[in-house]
Amino acid sequence: MAMLAAHDGFWEWDPLSKALHVGSRLLEILGYQEDFLPDTHAWLKLVHPEDVAAYNRAVALHLKGQNEFFYCEYRVLAKDGCYHWIASRGMAVRDRHGKAYQMVGSVTDITDRRKYQEEMEFLALHDNLTGLPNRLQFAEHLQDALREAREKAERLAVLFIDLDRFKNINDTLGHRAGDQLLQLITQRLSQNIPSNCRLYRQGGDEFIVLLNPVEDARAALSAAMILKDQLTTPITGGESDFFTTASIGISLFPEDASDGETLLRHADTAMYEAKAAGGNTIRSHTPVMNERITFRMSLETQLRRALQEEQLALHFQPKVDTVTGKLVGAEALLRWHDGKKQIPPDLFIPVAEESGLIIQIGEWVIDRAILHILEWQERYGDIPPVAINLSPRQFWRSSVADLFLEKLALAGLPPHALEAEITESVLLEADKSSVDQLLHLRDSGIAISLDDFGTGYSSLSYLQRLPISTLKIDKSFVNNLILDDGAVGSEPMVRAIIAMAKSLSLLVVAEGVETITQRQLLEKLGCDVIQGYLISKALPAVEFADKFLVDCSNRG
Ligand code: C2E
Ligand code: MG
Ligand code: MG
Repeated sequence: MAMLAAHDGFWEWDPLSKALHVGSRLLEILGYQEDFLPDTHAWLKLVHPEDVAAYNRAVALHLKGQNEFFYCEYRVLAKDGCYHWIASRGMAVRDRHGKAYQMVGSVTDITDRRKYQEEMEFLALHDNLTGLPNRLQFAEHLQDALREAREKAERLAVLFIDLDRFKNINDTLGHRAGDQLLQLITQRLSQNIPSNCRLYRQGGDEFIVLLNPVEDARAALSAAMILKDQLTTPITGGESDFFTTASIGISLFPEDASDGETLLRHADTAMYEAKAAGGNTIRSHTPVMNERITFRMSLETQLRRALQEEQLALHFQPKVDTVTGKLVGAEALLRWHDGKKQIPPDLFIPVAEESGLIIQIGEWVIDRAILHILEWQERYGDIPPVAINLSPRQFWRSSVADLFLEKLALAGLPPHALEAEITESVLLEADKSSVDQLLHLRDSGIAISLDDFGTGYSSLSYLQRLPISTLKIDKSFVNNLILDDGAVGSEPMVRAIIAMAKSLSLLVVAEGVETITQRQLLEKLGCDVIQGYLISKALPAVEFADKFLVDCSNRG
């Protein structure tokens, strides 16, 4: 027959008597010597139980004339005890009335092809590095799980896990170590995961867990706590010990969302909130989070417009010598008036950071500061340095140091015309590249201040490692320096900070100085520079110049 290829095994079957005749090649494919397959019954015993139904259906459909050919791929037990995949095709010979009285066909061993196909399917649905099912598989499973949960009126939960500061590991220990860590984490989680949980790799350092079913929000939370504990127990790898933490977001069906996509997004949002709270935390999704996101998004849109429509301005706050009161610098602070009201930087800077707009805004701030400096120089001669605040995000991208230097050079200004203020978070998120950029700035003659000192994770080792020249004591310390009821305020702390700074030859600036008594105490403690409402709040450029720069021009 034409449909027979050289390697195919031939068979012939009588649908009425069920008598079967198989060719020797077919037996050979399955590794059998003699023919022990007299009829359909004997053959069906060899067919994989999971495939019997599909096989019978295919035969029936063809016999009834609904399919022109018989074709079926199924597994058959071979002599070696393994199942072989075969493709069987055939055709019935029919009488005048169309009734089949004989069927002939052939089989091909397609085990290799099926294996390959299964591998491909596996690869498409699994993550290469960890072997975990991937986001595609998750999406499928989530749909199935949701259907089931709806039918049974049960709950399910989605947990979004993101490792904290994983980028640091990649940057400092290399990508191989990063990969290894992901594998170790996968092992750890898979071995200790609660039984109603399934783990997926979303991508990068993100994992998803599907909890199905779950009793209630409390149960979801306790599962998340188990996972978090697993993640925070140090992991010993081949060459390195890893100390990791993770942020986990939880969303619950049906409380938080009724469809899979929203459920995942809410878990992601909650994870994001956990990150924003400093990481190593679990957050359950709440409706408030949605409001916050909506608010953030509308603020972002407005901010983009503000940048185009020149609604932003720089105000300047003087820094003066604690003892002499002489102007030693100014801090440029961003102001946004949207036409109706002032929007405070504490509100819009975080939005600018999250949306990445801070890159453009940061550049705008440098440009604008330089314009003011040029104008003032022309009018008042040399003026003290203007400090610009830099967000951590600005260090992620290319070289903020080069940006500074290029712009200064273009304006024909010396490097010390500008200063940079950074917060400790730059250092926390610091990979080597941010430290390099800071070194580059310092070496080019741009002074760097550490802002809001004392509010973060300030540690001596940071201070020693970093090329900073100035420490700005956060205004909360200054605010608590002298307490009304005579209780001990932050004085001992401020004293210690100043002593430490001095030992590292750092200049000390106190922020938020509002009263004479604060100033006097700070002077006594050895603080070099003060900044705050006592001297002046941040003023529009013209006012600032009128009030504080006029002196500069009278100096010589
Ligand atoms: P910061 O750099 O610590 O700025 C000092 C903040 O303290 C300013 O708030 C300033 O107006 C306020 N301040 C100064 N003196 C006093 C005082 O005596 N008492 C009190 N209670 N407050 C005082 P502002 O202008 O609202 O800025 C808030 C934060 O926004 C800044 O904190 C800074 O982190 C950020 N920011 C402002 N402008 C920029 C910018 O251009 N770029 C970036 N990346 N961040 C900026
Ligand atoms: Mg500052
Ligand atoms: Mg500050």
